[in-house]
Amino acid sequence: MIVQANPGASYRALKTEIDAAVARVLDSGWYILGQEVKAFEAEFAAWEGTSRAVGCGNGTDAIVLALRGLGIGPGCSVATVSHTAVATVAAIEMTGATPVLIDIDPAHFTMDPADLAATLAAPPAGLPPIKAVLPVHLYGQAADLDAIGGLCRTNGLKLIEDCAQAHGATWRGAKVGTFGDAATFSFYPTKNLGALGDGGAVATSDAALADRIAAVRQYGWRSHYISDDVGMNSRLDEMQAAILRVKLAHLDAANARRQAIAAVYDRALEGTDIRPPARRDGAGHVFHLYVVRTEARDALQARLRAAGIGSGIHYPQPVHLQPAYKGRVALGPAGCRETEAAASQVLSLPLYPEMTDAEVETVAAAFARPA
Ligand SMILES: *Cc1c(COP(=O)(O)O)cnc(C)c1O
Repeated sequence: MIVQANPGASYRALKTEIDAAVARVLDSGWYILGQEVKAFEAEFAAWEGTSRAVGCGNGTDAIVLALRGLGIGPGCSVATVSHTAVATVAAIEMTGATPVLIDIDPAHFTMDPADLAATLAAPPAGLPPIKAVLPVHLYGQAADLDAIGGLCRTNGLKLIEDCAQAHGATWRGAKVGTFGDAATFSFYPTKNLGALGDGGAVATSDAALADRIAAVRQYGWRSHYISDDVGMNSRLDEMQAAILRVKLAHLDAANARRQAIAAVYDRALEGTDIRPPARRDGAGHVFHLYVVRTEARDALQARLRAAGIGSGIHYPQPVHLQPAYKGRVALGPAGCRETEAAASQVLSLPLYPEMTDAEVETVAAAFARPA
């Protein structure tokens, strides 16, 4: 079986280096927020192109910390999308803020700036004022940061980029995560930069914001045992930080391999009625997921399964239709029609850097038959 994602393969590929890093932490006697976290934060910020990065427990908490650091909470609404990992919306509610879900641009699956503009012009009745926008660079490709950034500037809104699927993705040559007030990352094992457990980070070039976030992640402490802010506990541990330092050094090569596999799939899909992922002008796609679109999605998935090829659906149900949110969460004035249409047509093909050329060819050959 060719699986859709394979974090175990990425461990095995770097086993000697990772085992040495883990042994170093075990021997050090220091396991939480120490030298490894400090070094990883500095290395990750340098790679990302921000002045600071603050490690935390996971990508959901990274969003919570970024919003709280920016003063977003009760009495604020935050515009995001419904076509995303539920974590994006859950994190907004964890701060006490109210999510407003914007429809997607059906070609690229990211926030539709026209729907954002319409929602800002006529916000849903009874909602707290929209204070921030949280676009998701979904599947490894930038949302339209020109249009969304412009709307944030003209409306005086904070911009937080959810980069959980887009480590290394670019927009007009600069890394995503350098355009907003803050950017949030997940290091869940299957992400482009994955730990061997949970991890996350907030990147920003606002030093005061980074200091506030670093305090809130650990009980609001700026010095031990004294809470200046109301805090929480969302620390990155030394073991994961040491592993992430190993993996960060290989991230650009891993993203290049993802792009090479995507190019093989693109060619194989030519002449079929399966639509390959559309590339947005100005965006450098890092293929966290290679998501095709077809009306015959379930049949394609079954056909691949019969050929020993795994696939995934990201996501089978929009957040606003899931039981925890249905009938309760606000949408823009036009609803989320494109989001609902995408959910039944998207399919994520196997794509991870350690796939062999033979595995890639097997997947590519499976498209050649009529869908
Ligand atoms: C994975 C993910 C998150 C949450 O990250 P966790 O580390 O699982 O908390 C948030 N947003 C998006 C878009 C994600 O893909």
